[in-house]
Amino acid sequence: MLSTDEDLRAVPLGQTFTAEIPLGPNGGTVIRCYASTSPKSKLHGDAECKALRTTSTTADLELSLSAAVGRLCTRCRWPLPTDSPVLLLGAAIISVDSLKIWIDREPDPDGDIQAERDAVLALATGEYPPSATSQRSEGDGEDEAFDDEEWNRYARARDIRQNHFTHWRRLHSYLARSIEAVSEFPFLRPWAEPLQVRLAAVLDEERRAFAALLQPDSLREAAAVRLIQTPEFTPGPEFAGLGNEAARTFRRAWHEWNLQAAWSWHRLEEHDFAVDSVLRDAFGRRRKGRPEAEAAFERLAADWIAKAHSRAAQPDETPWQLIGVKAPALTRGHYTEPDRDPLTHWESAVLATYQVAFDHTAGTAALLVPQLIAGQLATAASSTMPVARLGTPANALPAEMLLSHWQPDETTPQP
Ligand SMILES: [Zn+2]
Repeated sequence: MLSTDEDLRAVPLGQTFTAEIPLGPNGGTVIRCYASTSPKSKLHGDAECKALRTTSTTADLELSLSAAVGRLCTRCRWPLPTDSPVLLLGAAIISVDSLKIWIDREPDPDGDIQAERDAVLALATGEYPPSATSQRSEGDGEDEAFDDEEWNRYARARDIRQNHFTHWRRLHSYLARSIEAVSEFPFLRPWAEPLQVRLAAVLDEERRAFAALLQPDSLREAAAVRLIQTPEFTPGPEFAGLGNEAARTFRRAWHEWNLQAAWSWHRLEEHDFAVDSVLRDAFGRRRKGRPEAEAAFERLAADWIAKAHSRAAQPDETPWQLIGVKAPALTRGHYTEPDRDPLTHWESAVLATYQVAFDHTAGTAALLVPQLIAGQLATAASSTMPVARLGTPANALPAEMLLSHWQPDETTPQP
């Protein structure tokens, strides 16, 4: 019999276990219920349930979970031992059931096709209005100074992309958690799979919308950053303001710029902030020699960008490659912290842009990518994100089939 209250947890079984859900061996778990004596009456976990008290005679029953589902009161909680297998199964069912939130939605009435199209056009030119960028370098602002409307247009476009990106990643996480639930309780599959198929369709729509707002050229250039040689510091009078910190500042600026440029979906020209902030740190409040150093670092960054551009422009030695990737779900934040995304922006953008097949039962994707991108994906591979080459270029099997044969949890041969 049940021992102390500490070993029990009150579980709203009627909210989770419905008649459509297969219970497998857990269906045999015995639960204690209270009911009125009429044959088809609701079953309650609490003898004091208000829905029960209206009848005069009650029965105290011990029933198997499978015999009880379909009649469980949705207001009651059942005291279950904390090690009851029903608790784990319930958590898995909730992981699958929550897919329904995302698949039965009406199309968003605020979804503005015109705004989406305009965002695609705007972001194809960069993150900010091109006029603003050229003004910044020419410095002859005068009356064409700030075009508010253009700035707002680009801000809107960036928002639209951000929303598609975060929604796509969130949907992917829900799917990934449901896949994990089914792998723990395989008898859930017949119920879960139709839901996963429908979620995968919504997920793919979101992926396409996000991908339309990305530039494959920028992803290729970012991948080229990894391959340019680490630059050597050449001392000169332009660095005098940094004193004996010059070489160290140079190395930090390169490191920060490299890290941001290589793992972002932005164009290489958008990362001057990385260099600026290293310089700001190094100078603190000092002014002496600062404009000269700033100008010198601007030239250095321009040189790094030019080198990466030229590396990206080199033709690949091998044809495009078919790569399998299993993207991780978002990491749940503690308490009020937001969820954290283990993927870098570059990785997310590559997954969205180059996907040619997706396996909704495994959560794996096949990407068809240029060699340069494949190389960087290989460096990003880890146990949280397995990456593998799916086939040789001579292999004529369809991507879906090659993907379905991939077992990402086993060894991952790198591309
Ligand atoms: Zn009840």
